[in-house]
Parts: sequence; structure tokens; C-alpha cells
Amino acid sequence: MTCPPPRPRPAWRTGVGVATAALIAVPAYAAFAQTRPASADARTAADGYLREPVTPFDTEPAVADLDPGLRAAVQQATADARADGVAIMVNSGWRSGRYQQQLLDEAIASYGPAEADRRVNGPDRSTHVTGRAVDIGPPEADRWLQRHGAAYGLCQVYANEIWHFELTTRPGRPCPPQLPDASAD
Ligand SMILES: [Zn+2]
Repeated sequence: MTCPPPRPRPAWRTGVGVATAALIAVPAYAAFAQTRPASADARTAADGYLREPVTPFDTEPAVADLDPGLRAAVQQATADARADGVAIMVNSGWRSGRYQQQLLDEAIASYGPAEADRRVNGPDRSTHVTGRAVDIGPPEADRWLQRHGAAYGLCQVYANEIWHFELTTRPGRPCPPQLPDASAD
């Protein structure tokens, strides 16, 4: 009589400890993933994040996905500002909803909900998400647009954000009164 080779122990028996741990671990991970997925950081070019300021003629989504009328107005202003020796740059433009949400979450973490509400709109209210707002820099470019922006329909919207411009008037018409901050709209 020959001896059969020793049978490997069934996987369900050897792996029982691991399997039990997995049964416990999976729901815990699923709950974690729902609130904070591994890919949570929305600072990507596809989300409209800009690592550094770009010209209003750039092809990054932050500029390319702006409302075409707004982009054209900023480009026209940029050409005219250049004649005055002022370089208009875009610090932020179009943003994805998840990028906007991340900015709001970070503002809440830094300043608390009340101050965050004055500084950052949620994705449901932000004109950056609809491509109808652009943040301009440096400060001399903001000041140039404060003086000349209305000629292109570009107006500073919030008194506490000298950099945030939207198309809120018809070219050559006066800008509407500014809102005190982002909580007011
Ligand atoms: Zn803005």
C-alpha cells in the first residue's frame, strides 16, 4: 500500500482567521472610502486647479472651460492692459464641483463655518463652477480691472475679493453695487 501525499489543508480552514478579519475590515473600509476616497485631492488640472498663475490665453481647463464670453472679455482686457504695462494673469477660473467642495471644506477647517461662508461658496452656488467667474492677479492687474473692467463688462463682485471678476454689466455700462462678501449672494 502506498501512502497518499499529505493533503493540503482546506483553504477555508487555514484562512479562517484572515477571512474573519476581512469580513470585519471590508465594511469599515467601505464606510471610510465613502467619506474620504483615496483620490480625494481635487487639486488636479482636470478639476481646474492651477499650480501657478496662467495667462487668459492658456489652454488649461481652468481657462478653457470658462464661459466663452467671460474668457473673451478677459482676453480683450489683457491685450489693452498690456499697453499700460500691466500683465493680467488668471489665478483661478473654472473649477469642478469637487474642487470647489474641497476649497469649502478647507475653509471650514481653517476659519469655521461662519467665516468660510463669507470666503467660499459651495459648489451649488459658486460661479467658478459654472465658469462665470475668474480670479485675477497680481494686485496691479486687479486695480487696473477695477478702473477699466466695466468697459469690457467685467466687474468686481465682492468688496472683500479685489481679485474676483464676473461679467455683470454690459460693456461700457457701470458695474452694479458690490456685495459685501460671498455670503451675501
Ligand atoms: Zn473667485
